[in-house]
Amino acid sequence: MKKDIVEKGAILQRDRETYAIAPHIPGGLTDTATLRKLCDVADKYRLQLKLTSAQRIMLIGVKEQDLDTIWAELAQKPGAAIGLCVRSIKICPGTTYCKRGVQDSISLGLKLDARYHAMVLPNKMKMGVSGCMVSCAESGLKDIGVIATAKGWRILVGGNAGARPRLADTLIDVTSDEDQVLVIIDKIVTWYRNSGREVRLGKLVEEMGIDNFREEILA
Ligand code: SF4
Repeated sequence: MKKDIVEKGAILQRDRETYAIAPHIPGGLTDTATLRKLCDVADKYRLQLKLTSAQRIMLIGVKEQDLDTIWAELAQKPGAAIGLCVRSIKICPGTTYCKRGVQDSISLGLKLDARYHAMVLPNKMKMGVSGCMVSCAESGLKDIGVIATAKGWRILVGGNAGARPRLADTLIDVTSDEDQVLVIIDKIVTWYRNSGREVRLGKLVEEMGIDNFREEILA
């Protein structure tokens, strides 16, 4: 029986025969050349396209024998859509484009993507960076979420929009620049990687209580 082919980023589809692949598109930002390439490949191999919640464009209906050729033609890396790792960093338009934005969510989000996308962890992890409290990147439902405030950034932990939804807890409000946010997120990821537990981060936050977790991370 066929299964996902993790090393090729291929997810077995409902027909139990063909696969979907999702190239890594950091922050969902896609230049016209990349879009054209995706469309050209989709047309050539008669594939369907689907936008994903992780701001990717999935190509659906790929035959197993075409996987290597299609990845070579795309000249892109797979997005971490499966496996126990940092799956996605969802990023809203922030001050780059949005009139409501108060901080540069794209800048911070792309730095997080460069550091963590596909990093292997005890369980899957999603991140979200929003440029204001409206939280269009759904930061409150991410394992690690960041929301811009008028004075800096709010870091949230333990969110999950899965089968057992959980709203993230506020870890800390940071009033300095994004470098401090990166330092704190690095501490969270390192702690989680060394936790020895194979559950989502939210489960650990729940068990410890947010006050103890905060002390553990920020001490
Ligand atoms: S979270 Fe705020 S800055 Fe980001 S897209 Fe939504 S309204 Fe705009």
